[in-house]
Amino acid sequence: MRAMFIGIDDTDSRERYCTTYIGTLLMEELEKRYKMDTPKLIRMNPMVKYKTRGNGGISLRVLEENLKDRDIDYIKKTVLKYVEKYSDLEDENTNPGVVFLMEKDYKKNRELLKKYYKKVLYDIVDLDYAKEMVEKVGGEYVCYKKGYGIIGALGSIASSGPYTYELLTYRKKENWGKKRIIDDKSVVEMDRKTFPYTFNNVDGDKQIIAPNTKCPVLYGIRGVNKEILLEAMKMVKCEEKIDRYMIFKTNQGTDAHLRPMKIKDIYPNTGVIVHGVVTEDPKSIRGGAVIFKVCDNTGEISCVAYEPTKGFRDIVRKLKKGDMVGVYGTVREKPFGINLEKLKIVKLAKVYMKDKKCSCGGTLKSKGVKSGYVCNRCKKRVNYNSIKLIEVKRDISEGFYEVPPSARRHLSKPLLLF
Ligand code: ATP
Repeated sequence: MRAMFIGIDDTDSRERYCTTYIGTLLMEELEKRYKMDTPKLIRMNPMVKYKTRGNGGISLRVLEENLKDRDIDYIKKTVLKYVEKYSDLEDENTNPGVVFLMEKDYKKNRELLKKYYKKVLYDIVDLDYAKEMVEKVGGEYVCYKKGYGIIGALGSIASSGPYTYELLTYRKKENWGKKRIIDDKSVVEMDRKTFPYTFNNVDGDKQIIAPNTKCPVLYGIRGVNKEILLEAMKMVKCEEKIDRYMIFKTNQGTDAHLRPMKIKDIYPNTGVIVHGVVTEDPKSIRGGAVIFKVCDNTGEISCVAYEPTKGFRDIVRKLKKGDMVGVYGTVREKPFGINLEKLKIVKLAKVYMKDKKCSCGGTLKSKGVKSGYVCNRCKKRVNYNSIKLIEVKRDISEGFYEVPPSARRHLSKPLLLF
């Protein structure tokens, strides 16, 4: 079998282009000669600092059984031509990398590649490590400038399921950089009609399918199968004509960046799921964030819901010491703690308050710290430990809660998909 994989990453800047755009142009070009698999858009560790936006890398797979040497040569030249033409090489943070890997080497090294995929999702990977890995699996890399893109290019090739899909539409060149005018109502309607097969389209009555950057993307619709995305695209009303579109297979909306961990093993810049007990009631801190602590049988860690998570913070505020929870999120280095993406309330603790009503109808008043109580009407005395406790009804239910769509990471699995 002489089919081949092509991985590309780190071609764009905040000002220009998008790696998926190169993928789309290349798909169109290569499809003229070869059978092509669905291209992949793979998101990697969202904690990587020098990402442009969502830390995504793309990969293509030429499905032709018997690629000749001259075909391989043509494919490589075409890929590099497009990468050179549509990368923002002038931006100092753009360091493209391309990886080529033949299908037989991919198959031979499947386990090693799966391990590498987990590493790019969970950890900060060193460029030398990525280069060594490309060589180890028999691939070839091409670096532009510092070539950091190799890390994500190989990550995209190495990825494994579960997958979802994203349909990306692109703008005509003359519209790049202009404001996108998309009819919110049509997106709300599309969301309703395609529910539950598409996700993250709207936040309240506002569409969130269009980026706010100068890149060539007009909008992207995420969903669980390709057919529904084509239907959804027809429903979106927009002031400009779509130039082209492409459907990518992706790990978005899968929680691939999270895995269960014991608190003692947690380290910064990774994604975790922790099951534990709330040890401190939540409190509000600077900038509108809400913080609380959880422990398991190995340690204790802070969990924070930041301001952009909006109404999700109101749920968090209602937690109480003793609640059993599952927390889902990425680990921030400073201040060290879990940046919450989802919260599972497994078991609510019983909360009690002192019944300060006296049988005569008066009120029991405290006589001082732990000194008991005295009724303000009949003067009856009650020992500190003898006061009746009444259970307080909790104004929150056990269940799964998530941050609003506009605060969601590309990789976060929406509750809708559980
Ligand atoms: P876009 O979403 O528009 O494609 P981006 O957010 O993906 O942009 P890039 O410009 O691709 O940002 O920059 C991310 C860089 O981080 C790339 O060079 C990629 O190879 C690298 N990278 C990806 N995963 C990791 C990782 N786990 N550790 C270190 N570097 C990584």
